[in-house]
Amino acid sequence: MKKPEVLIVGAGIAGPALAYWLSRTGYRPTVVEHARQLRSGGSAIVVKGPAIPVAQHMGVLPRLRELATRNRSLTLLDPAGRRILRLPLTSDKAPTVEVTRADLSEVLHRAAQTEAEFVFDDTITALRQDEDGVDVTFRRSAPRRFDLVVGADGAHSTVRRLVFGPEQRFTRHLGLYGATVPLEPDAVEDPSEMTMLTAPNRMLVVHPSRKTPLAIFTFRTAPLAPHDRKNTALHKRTVADAYADIAWRAPELVATFVDHPAPFFDALTTVRLPSWSRGRVVLLGDAAAATALLGDGSSMAMAGAYALAEELAAHPGDHVRAFAAYESRLRREVGPRQRRVRLLSRLMVPRTRPGLAARNAVGRAVGRAHRSASHETANR
Ligand SMILES: Cc1cc2nc3c(=O)[nH]c(=O)nc-3n(C[C@H](O)[C@H](O)[C@H](O)COP(=O)(O)OP(=O)(O)OC[C@H]3O[C@@H](n4cnc5c(N)ncnc54)[C@H](O)[C@@H]3O)c2cc1C
Repeated sequence: MKKPEVLIVGAGIAGPALAYWLSRTGYRPTVVEHARQLRSGGSAIVVKGPAIPVAQHMGVLPRLRELATRNRSLTLLDPAGRRILRLPLTSDKAPTVEVTRADLSEVLHRAAQTEAEFVFDDTITALRQDEDGVDVTFRRSAPRRFDLVVGADGAHSTVRRLVFGPEQRFTRHLGLYGATVPLEPDAVEDPSEMTMLTAPNRMLVVHPSRKTPLAIFTFRTAPLAPHDRKNTALHKRTVADAYADIAWRAPELVATFVDHPAPFFDALTTVRLPSWSRGRVVLLGDAAAATALLGDGSSMAMAGAYALAEELAAHPGDHVRAFAAYESRLRREVGPRQRRVRLLSRLMVPRTRPGLAARNAVGRAVGRAHRSASHETANR
């Protein structure tokens, strides 16, 4: 019997994970990615919660552990770069693995590569669906008909725009921007320590990693126009202006950002839609429900890919029920995270000096509680 053909748009995190699982459950996946190769930008992310068993079943958990950052503590600095407190980041309560986004994407792609067809440097230009399938036209490849189409093309999804409507209807900007740039390996003295400076409306993190440390800028500024989303020169000016009065290592890190040919820059947004599917087209990962660059997106994308493939396998020939079951499973995970995001963003980057002082006081109390718990354990 002919295997149903599925087009997956986007080879970030959700796309390769879904391609892997679909190929194991009787489908023929094709992944189209508009970049020429896997995209390497982005900060470190923590694979956690429902993504851990998914990584385990894919057999990629050992490789992720090998690539994991050795980040063990967080040092918080005041706006002048003076150390305020140091918090341990390790916990033996729940298994988690911190890797760079680029490493995660590469590991998932490697796992899916032999099972699925990957087409880089191409994208879709139009979709037209009928009862039995979806006709897709591409920028470069010849038109093709698929049984199903999955939009795994991120927060600025083209599939969503073509099938559901313009981006502004579904995205909500948190008022923060995120920007990252890779650093030279010797930019970090201690590979087990993450350093975070916070000033009102701005945060600057130097994040260690096994291969490439990162500088991460998270800040509030006047909203940029949607058409400036790809304006790299403007992104560089925006970061330089936002950190112009910050001391510590800001001048050096901003210079690295400005000198980089293609640093990562995006608005922190959540994505919410009343339904994630329309006919034979379904959304996955950030395209369906971005949780706004606060670290859960990749785990949600992996869990979503697994759930979608599992529901398609459980409802052969009935994509309508499969899509509904997948959506109701994932909404239970994503909903509470999206509701927390606004509060978390205010805690991460307080707007005022009093807000910052209150946040740091809580941090100190957590540090003290942790130290006394470790002391008690050591004395037992
Ligand atoms: C370069 C980059 C850097 C990121 N940095 C961070 C970060 O620092 N912190 C954080 O928390 N999250 C970051 N994210 C978002 C994070 O990766 C997602 O929250 C999460 O991994 C969900 O994965 P996803 O696969 O749904 O989306 P993404 O990881 O965004 O992947 C979407 C993929 O689709 C591709 N794509 C987009 N449009 C099209 C199109 N029209 N046709 C074909 N392909 C298309 C993109 O190039 C990308 O490869 C970043 C994403 C990218 C792409």
